[in-house]
Amino acid sequence: MTTANTTGTATLTEGVRAEATIDLAALRGNLDALRARIGAASVMLAVKADAYGHGAVECARAAVAHGVGWLGCATPEEALALRAAGIRPEQARILCWLWTPGGPWREALRAGLDISVSGMWALDELLPAVRETGIPARVHLKADTGLGRNGCQPHDWPRLVEAARRAETDGLLTVVGVWSHFAAADEPGHPSIRAQQDSFRTALATAEAAGLRPEVRHLANSPATLLLPEAHYDLVRTGLAAYGLSPVPEVGSPADFGLRPVMALTARLALVKHVPGGHGVSYGHHYTTPGPTTLGLVPVGYGDGIPRHASGSGPVQVGGKWRTAAGRVAMDQFVVDLGGDTPAIGEEVLLFGNGDRGEPTAEDWARAAGTISYEIVTRIGARVPRRYLGAEHTEGLPA
Ligand SMILES: *Cc1c(COP(=O)(O)O)cnc(C)c1O
Repeated sequence: MTTANTTGTATLTEGVRAEATIDLAALRGNLDALRARIGAASVMLAVKADAYGHGAVECARAAVAHGVGWLGCATPEEALALRAAGIRPEQARILCWLWTPGGPWREALRAGLDISVSGMWALDELLPAVRETGIPARVHLKADTGLGRNGCQPHDWPRLVEAARRAETDGLLTVVGVWSHFAAADEPGHPSIRAQQDSFRTALATAEAAGLRPEVRHLANSPATLLLPEAHYDLVRTGLAAYGLSPVPEVGSPADFGLRPVMALTARLALVKHVPGGHGVSYGHHYTTPGPTTLGLVPVGYGDGIPRHASGSGPVQVGGKWRTAAGRVAMDQFVVDLGGDTPAIGEEVLLFGNGDRGEPTAEDWARAAGTISYEIVTRIGARVPRRYLGAEHTEGLPA
């Protein structure tokens, strides 16, 4: 693992085509900034989808070394991979919430995972696995308080709660958590926010009336962590904000919330060439050079997670100037019009970063592609090597 500095102003590693630098010092700083907002509540770092493209194992390790005791995964496979990488139950609880029939219940019990249960079908699969392994389950019951995605509908909730309580009394499981997820916490004032909070209170009251005493009640994602203190309860589940991006760009930038982008994406110009005016550029010739100019070839494309929807709009910085993807983003490459400039072949192209060098951010790419910054960083593919900055701090060396 290469480490350069902890400032996040990464320089591209010698000889590489492209690279995503992951600033673990920024991750730690973001976790501190989030903790400062949540009083006595704890942080769960969402590390699903390879930590939103940042590297699940590396980010989980850095967070755990920084005192984070909860990790969140979508699939049990993601959670099992973290245990296989050496993150032990006494270091961090790992909740996985997206189960399907036939899932790895036994492996999850043996690995000491926390298991989310959204319906009776899951208890019906989990309890035989508990009896077989002799390992009581740690369960978080998930209520659908209005998102209309995963979680148990209010109508079915009392029955699920009663069944879980019976299993708890029988020593088969502990209901560690009761939880839910917001639909529109990123839209301040959206009527669903208050309705979901009311519904969550009702779900909690039903659970308590049935005798359940969950250690953690949790509802907040990043936007709710930043904007809705009354939704913090005992634990907040933060992904995007911990990775230094704003879940509410219309409300505030990362800096406004004391956050710093963790990922920067850089590539190396693969070609610089003079072309005449009227020259079509890339598939379909959706860009034509307005006059004699220079073109720069950026050797990343949608095969690396660069959105094709950012054809003609995706911003980069080359030689201190912003340029725009000229024509289509292809699978492996796209082109920028350098307007007559002749940077060296091999010169750095900053696609996005924390903005310290005046470069675009993931949010700029999100806007260019008509999506959200979540998708921009999460999609950066396995073909792009990750370089970790600030990892030495995890080992206790001077920062
Ligand atoms: C992804 C996810 C989160 C984290 O969301 P952010 O907005 O990135 O903080 C929290 N809870 C659930 C259920 C999720 O799926």
